[in-house]
Parts: sequence; C-alpha cells; structure tokens
Amino acid sequence: MTDGTSLEFTIEHNPNPASDEDRAKVLENPGFGERFTDHMVMIDWTRDGGWQNARVVPYGPLQMNPGNAIFHYAQEVFEGLKAYRHADGSVHTFRPEMNAKRMQRSAHRLALPELPVDVFVESLRQLVQADEAWVPAHGEGKSLYLRPFMIANEDFLGVRAAETVTYFVIASPAGAYFKDPTRPVNIWLETELSRAGRGGTGAAKCGGNYAASLLPQQTAYEHGCEQVLFLDSSTEQYLEELGGMNIVLVYRDGTVATPESDSILESVTNDSILTLFKETGHTVERRKITIDEWREGAESGAITEAFAVGTAAVISPIGTLKHTDFQIENPRVTEESLSMRMRAKLTGIQNGDLADDHGWLEQLA
Ligand SMILES: *Cc1c(COP(=O)(O)O)cnc(C)c1O
Repeated sequence: MTDGTSLEFTIEHNPNPASDEDRAKVLENPGFGERFTDHMVMIDWTRDGGWQNARVVPYGPLQMNPGNAIFHYAQEVFEGLKAYRHADGSVHTFRPEMNAKRMQRSAHRLALPELPVDVFVESLRQLVQADEAWVPAHGEGKSLYLRPFMIANEDFLGVRAAETVTYFVIASPAGAYFKDPTRPVNIWLETELSRAGRGGTGAAKCGGNYAASLLPQQTAYEHGCEQVLFLDSSTEQYLEELGGMNIVLVYRDGTVATPESDSILESVTNDSILTLFKETGHTVERRKITIDEWREGAESGAITEAFAVGTAAVISPIGTLKHTDFQIENPRVTEESLSMRMRAKLTGIQNGDLADDHGWLEQLA
C-alpha cells in the first residue's frame, strides 16, 4: 500500500507529436480548450494498493467499457490552473498547492481518494516538462491551461464509491481570454434553477455542478447574457456565484466584499485578489450579501464596481445583471478602476513582470 508520496513517474514519449509548424499555428491563436498537447499524466489508484503507476504517456483516446461507473454516476472532480512563460523563458504556475488541497476537499466530498499535494504538483511539473514547447511565449497574455481531473474507473453499475480510480492531467494552450479586459459581461440572474444547495456539492469542483448550470446557461444566452448568477437555493436572496466564477463587489468607501456560503467553490483567484486588496489598505469582507443590497447599491452609487473572478478570465467586470423582473446596471469600468489595477497586479505577478512577494509562484520548467 502506497500513500503516493514516493511515486516515480515513467515517461513514454509520443511517437507522433504535433509538428513545429502545426504547434506554432495553434499557439498563434489558441482559443480555449480546443487543442491538447502531445502528452498526458495518468496515475491509478486502487482501494487495496493506493496510488500507483504514475506515468506520462501520449495524449490520446481512452478505452473504457460502457459499464464504467463514471458514465453513470459522475463520480468525478477536476481542477484548472495555468502555466505562464516568464521573460527569461522559465515556466511557472500559480499557487498549485491551493488547487491540490481544493482537489483533496472535492475528492473527499465525492468519495474519491485524496492525491497527496506533492504528487499533484509533481504531476504538473512532469507534464509541463514533457510539453514545454506548448507553453506560449511571454507577454501576450497567453498561457498553458492545465486540467487535472480524477474519475471513478471501474466497470460496475452498483451504486457505491469506485474501488479503482484514475487521476489525469491534460494541458491545452489558452489565449488571452478577452482582448479588452475592461469589456463588461452581462449576467443572467437565475431564480428558478439552482446549481447547488445546502449540504450538496457546491463547494466541490465537480463536473456535476457544471452539468446543473448548463440549462440556466442556455437561458442566459437567450437573454443576451454570457453567464448565469445563482442565488442560495433555500431563500433565493443571497448571492452565490456564477457557473464557474466567484463574485466580488467594491463599495464607494473602498470596502471589498465577496459572498460567503457553504455552497460556493472557493476560488484561488478570489483569494489572491482579496489578499492584494487587503495589502493596499482595503477592508475585505466575506459575508452574506443579498441581491437587494447589490440592486440598491448600484442604484445609489454605493457600489462602484462589480466583477467576476476565476483562473480562465482572471477578472471580468459585470455590466448588466438581468432578471425577469428587474435589471441592475453596474458602473462602467476603465483601466483606472480598482478591479483593473488589481488585475494588472495579479497578472503581472503570474507572468513574472512583477515581484512575487508572496511566494505564489512554483517553477515547473
Ligand atoms: C473553478 C471555479 C471557480 C474559480 O476558481 P479559480 O480557482 O479562481 O479558478 C469559481 N467557481 C466555480 C464553480 C468553479 O468551478
């Protein structure tokens, strides 16, 4: 039985990697999650044997039986973080131990095994070193998106926690999310459907939460919105979060507040941004916030900025929040707005242009 702490990775190089030409073309305009690198990481787990067979193998299709539990019961968790190329050519990721610990919490909730933090970080290092050529150049807002995930992997339809599990890491080059980061996104306020409830899986990063957000997401598109905001499922009064991003509000007196709830996924970006706000003298609050507080605050001018936070887009200013009965218009953000200055600070640390005073970066290559 191994606890995973002494795992050695084997490497099987891809005999047919993308050509330099093909890869260069992808890196020119990577989009998001469209093309994957030449390799992936896999680590197996069994109930009796623990973590084993850590390997880097060619990226490619998996062979699984249709009776595999993963297709039926969604016992799955995932993570998302990025690798950034610095000006000196080195490659770094951002606070990976936060993602590792969050994946442990998610895994615990989904009755999956917890991967040791060191193995999680080492798995990122192994993949990024194998596929270093896929990390975009410094200075264009591009990165290599890393997607660790863990699935039940057992050919069995009985309903219980799987006894064989596989952990993977795949990687995909990512473009600058928005060309103009001040461009506001419009958000649909969903009050019929919920993504999470008390005692549910809202605080875990699992595929099922995303599945639950897709129908309201379609409603959002129909109303000309890009994202959905969910309220707490019991009173429909308190702000929760978007389908895949946390919410932050800035008040006229400089106070910064983010909703507190047991069914919100704790965002690493949110924690980092709030840390930066705190260090620049802002009062930072994690507390319950009602939709009425936002509505009245936006109308009176007490709320000066509203934005969403997450690894993919970093910070997205929120423009209009639409609901069947009313609409909240948030102030227009400029380069000088607090949220945009914090965004520049955070991305500056991530891509190595600003000093990493917090020890947030982990060099991978
Ligand atoms: C991943 C995720 C976020 C953002 O978390 P980051 O660590 O900042 O990327 C927010 N909400 C949900 C539901 C998520 O799945």
